[in-house]
Amino acid sequence: MAGKFLESTAPAATFSATRDIRITVLGSGTSAGIPTITCDCAVCHSTDPRDNRLRPSVLLEYNGRKVLIDTTPDFRQQALRHNIRSLDAILYTHAHADHIMGLDDVRPFNFHRAEPIPVYASADTLARIQLAFKYAFKYEGKPAGPVPKLEGHILNGEPFDLFGLTVQPIPLPHGRDVTFGYRVANVAYLTDHSEIPEASLKLLEGLDVLFLDALRHRPHPTHSTVATSLDASIRLKPKQTVFTHMSHDLGHEETQHTLPEGVTLAYDGMVIDTPLRGFRVFTSLEDALPFFSPAGVSIGNFDGVHTGHQSLFRRLVALCHERGWKPSVLTFDPHPARILVPDRAPRLLTSLAERLQLFRQCGIEQVLVLPFNEDLRHLEATQFVERIVAPLGTRAVIVGDNFRFGHKLSGNTETLRALAPRYGYESLAGGAITYRGQTVSSSNVRGALYDGKVSKAARMLGRCYSIQGTVVTGHGVGSKQTVPTLNLAPTSELPPADGVYVTRATDLDDNRSWAAITNIGTRPTFENGSDRSIETFLLDSFDGRNPVHLKLTFLGRLRDEQKFEDAAALKTQIFHDVKRASALHRRVSTLIIRNEKGN
Ligand SMILES: [Zn+2]
Ligand SMILES: [Zn+2]
Ligand SMILES: [Zn+2]
Repeated sequence: MAGKFLESTAPAATFSATRDIRITVLGSGTSAGIPTITCDCAVCHSTDPRDNRLRPSVLLEYNGRKVLIDTTPDFRQQALRHNIRSLDAILYTHAHADHIMGLDDVRPFNFHRAEPIPVYASADTLARIQLAFKYAFKYEGKPAGPVPKLEGHILNGEPFDLFGLTVQPIPLPHGRDVTFGYRVANVAYLTDHSEIPEASLKLLEGLDVLFLDALRHRPHPTHSTVATSLDASIRLKPKQTVFTHMSHDLGHEETQHTLPEGVTLAYDGMVIDTPLRGFRVFTSLEDALPFFSPAGVSIGNFDGVHTGHQSLFRRLVALCHERGWKPSVLTFDPHPARILVPDRAPRLLTSLAERLQLFRQCGIEQVLVLPFNEDLRHLEATQFVERIVAPLGTRAVIVGDNFRFGHKLSGNTETLRALAPRYGYESLAGGAITYRGQTVSSSNVRGALYDGKVSKAARMLGRCYSIQGTVVTGHGVGSKQTVPTLNLAPTSELPPADGVYVTRATDLDDNRSWAAITNIGTRPTFENGSDRSIETFLLDSFDGRNPVHLKLTFLGRLRDEQKFEDAAALKTQIFHDVKRASALHRRVSTLIIRNEKGN
């Protein structure tokens, strides 16, 4: 069979390790592989090499790195066939045998590297993999024999950075199991799913390449069909859709004929190179000038990146995709209020790093962060447009209704509209988003947090509010007298009002996360004056090292902080809180999904 194997179809010479992402299909077949053992059907006996399908897997190459998705029982053969010489990370979709059973064959890659190979998967998938291949994870120091050396990283569905690109796990039902699809920049690989929930569809907008499970025509309890995946493709409009995980019901040639333009069946050895539409951040006008044009630009501070901002960005991204422009943000750092009215400057909901991450999630592709300094503050509104907006090759501008700019904040949406013809851009009206009759604005979100109303803040933000910080040694009282706690020194400027909250604690270094309760306040039971502390009690047990960099996501408020008779009374109350919090934790994931559907 090896002789019939198809060679690469993409001109390798044009692949640029820094500008492109390459996807190689290592296997395009369903769990049994095609030909299937003992089967005499036409497809299993086909002489078309594209009907010869190993178990499903792809290799991603970008920024000089190789990232494998799943280790199939055919992995050894796939690695040899494609002359894979190194491996930098493995992403697992789920723990079914056809996706993991070749794991042991990664060990030659360990011979060529000192560090273990990082492996990313959901907690459940990782646990099941570790059950089958315990020896690959539990080695102490140097392995006694030639075994794979892997390092597990648990994913909770949040995006993470992998070799300079954002990887977004995409939760997908697969019968009664849940799998992760993965989006890496403008490419997504979704295998083994019975449907794509609404919340996951939202993570798949603006793709260049989308791989979908398309097992066969007849319905199947745990897999998508050709028709269902065609519907998903029509809805998501990626530039290119590729079907994979196919059974012997689908002959390549005859099925391909029935598919619309832009939709192809995968085959083993298929190579797709696509330019990386990476996310770029510029910190000066000079840096941005050579690259920015043609741009659709949204201008503002965007603190919190709330639902109002998100709706602006959605319109901007849609327009840019239609016209072939780059969806862009022009923002400022520090917040202009810090310079203009230092004593009245607001405490910020998001750091610059968080804002950039959120812009990226909204489909923004480039950001110019203008240093807000004396020069900038003295630019007249017209000069701002003439010297900054126009030279960037701006084709369209969209801003929020309350946007002000230029010296003494004399410029507004009206100014932008008036200057549009002269500088050759379209000026789009912003429009406001309201929540229960109140305009969604950064200051209204801040107001909700000052009142401890984290649920209200979440509705306006379109996600739960979170703060970050470093775990510091606490007062010591917690661990001795009540329950063990993590004390956070926040880098975030705006912790919610004092009180007791249901939270999720995430280790920012490795994505481990735990259900938790967080107490913000002065610990009145222990009389330590007005020293404010942020203490978190984990509801899930954990092993491994103590987290150092923690993110706290606020899911709901339990009660005010109160003074108790003694530590024992406090402890009783904490256990009461734990009960309520656990119930809330069980509900909250469905709540969040429901909220997202409502948008
Ligand atoms: Zn499978
Ligand atoms: Zn067959
Ligand atoms: Zn499966």
